[in-house]
Formats: sequence, structure tokens, C-alpha cells
Amino acid sequence: MNTGEFDLIQQIRRHIVARDDVVLGIGDDAALLQLPANRQLVVAMDTLNIGVHFPRNTTAADIGWKALAVNLSDLAAMGAEPAWCTLSLSLPEADGDWLDGFLHGFTALARQHQIALVGGDTTRGPLSVCVTVHGLVASGEALRRDGARLGDDIWVSGSLGDAAAALALMLDEDGHLQDGDEALRQRLNRPTPRVPLGRALRGVAHAAIDVSDGLLADLQHICTASDVGARVQLAALPASDALLRAVDPERRQQLQATGGDDYELLFSAPVSARQAIEGIALATLTPLQRIGGIVNGERVVALAADGHEWQPSEPGYQHFSCR
Ligand code: ADP
Ligand code: MG
Repeated sequence: MNTGEFDLIQQIRRHIVARDDVVLGIGDDAALLQLPANRQLVVAMDTLNIGVHFPRNTTAADIGWKALAVNLSDLAAMGAEPAWCTLSLSLPEADGDWLDGFLHGFTALARQHQIALVGGDTTRGPLSVCVTVHGLVASGEALRRDGARLGDDIWVSGSLGDAAAALALMLDEDGHLQDGDEALRQRLNRPTPRVPLGRALRGVAHAAIDVSDGLLADLQHICTASDVGARVQLAALPASDALLRAVDPERRQQLQATGGDDYELLFSAPVSARQAIEGIALATLTPLQRIGGIVNGERVVALAADGHEWQPSEPGYQHFSCR
């Protein structure tokens, strides 16, 4: 199917989530959004490029889901409530069937979080998807990277390393994901942004970040911003059954500690909040695991089961790079 840019935009319009605070959505030169009183606007943007951020044979629906998911994950890490988004699409050709699949994945997640697509841009070029999300948070209540304090516990949601394992085990030389473990593939293609968890952690967590570059690298961001150090017990890092089945313990730890694309929340909170956090885990149906603590210093130190400092055997995934 071949369609012009205007038809593509019409096709996109049919899929949007409606919200009362969208005064003017797709169709004018810009969107008009009604901001509530006493709230701060939280804005984040992430781009997915073919062959860099997703394997070449990723389905359109999975790309649509993931493009929104990685952005919602940033709102989650700030404790924000999703409200609006914009979408910049660069497509090699005006392919209505591809766009249908894309919108299917994108809208499935948008509905879950009641986020409205209010505008964007559609151009011709190598396949690339850029989403900007806008969220809302009560003034002064956002979770930030710079609030970790000495003595805080360090927590992480869900499990780590699955997405990186999918890439490590299933990616061929041409940058195509081969058949393999379906659970791992799902974690790569359909990450779950931890939005309810992030919102529940406002006023409880001292600092938070979402794990996109790998646990240790992202924890280092919290430490640098907060001017503290951290100690992490490798044995405490949560693993899925799929990961336990797929790789040996050494490889697993490597993937959990340094693999990217997890989109879990990593946060610090005072010891006095342990019970509250257990309650949040139950209320938001999100497994939470205590993995270490905030200490004096500036480095993140990962400790092996024998108490010695552990060093990654291969450099971390700065960004997974599929050719
Ligand atoms: P302009 O030339 O004024 O920038 P466009 O022709 O690019 O307008 O877009 C027309 C309308 O369609 C605008 O409201 C724009 O926000 C919207 N739009 C264009 N592309 C997309 C897209 N990929 N997703 C959502 N809205 C889009
Ligand atoms: Mg435009």
C-alpha cells in the first residue's frame, strides 16, 4: 500500500486516545493543552533508530510499543503521570500497512496509560521513531537522581538482564533477531514502563532512575548526581526464570549488572521506608528487591558472593549495538 503524508496523518488520527485537557490536538500548526494548577510539566524524549535501538526484523507493532514504552519509563522514573505525547516518524516509504502495525503497538500502550498523541511530524528517510512525552507531577514532588542520602537502601523493580540476553543470544550477524526464548524476546520488544510504581514512590524514595543503560551504569548516575557512593550485592540482583534457564551464573550476573534495556526502576530510600515499600510492591503488583546501600564516596562497587569487588568481564552495553 502506498499512501501520501496527509493520508498517513489521517491514519494516525484515528488511533489517538481522547483527553479532556487536549484543547486542540492533531491538525493545526501546534497542539493546545490545558495545564492544571499547581502541577509541574515533566518532559522527556527518546529516539529509536533501526539497527541501533532495535534489530532490523523487529515488527512494526513492537517498534510502536517500545518507542512509547521507553519514554513512559522516563516519566515513571520522575514519578510523573503521563498526559500527552508527540511522535516524529521517519519512514523509508509511505507504507500504510507498516503504520497500521506501528499504531497497533503504540496505541495499546497509550490506552493503558491514558496518554494522548497530540501532534508530530512525518518525513521520509531511514526508519527512525522519536517520541516526546509530557507528564504531570505535583509541584516539587518529582523523583530526581540527585536526592540519594548516606544510609539509604537501594532497590530495583522486576528483574534484570532479560533484554540484553535476548540480544546476546538471539541476534545474528545481519542484525536480525533469531527465534529463541519467547520470554526474553518479549522483555526486549515489549518493556513494561513502571508508571504506577514511580507515582507511588513520590514522597518515599529519595532518588530514582530507570535502568536503560545497565544497572551499574545507571546507579552511577544517581551516585554522581547525589555526590555519594553505592555498594551492590550481585547475588541480590533479581533474575527471571527465563534468564536462569538461558545462561550460566557468570554470564547471568554480567547481563544483570551491565545489560541495557531493562526499563526497571532503580531507587534509593531510607531504611525507615522498608515497610512502606513492601506495601507499594503489593499495591502496584511490582516485585521489588533490595540490592544494596548508599555509602560515602563516589563510586558504585559491586560485591560478589565472597565479598570481593566484582568487575564486569566485558565492557557494559553502552547502548546495544546491532548492525
Ligand atoms: P506543519 O506543516 O504545520 O508542521 P504538518 O503537515 O507537519 O504541519 O502536520 C499537520 C498536523 O499533523 C500537525 O498537527 C502535526 O502535529 C500532525 N502530525 C504530523 N505528523 C504526525 C505524526 N507522525 N504523529 C502525530 N501527529 C502528526
Ligand atoms: Mg510539520
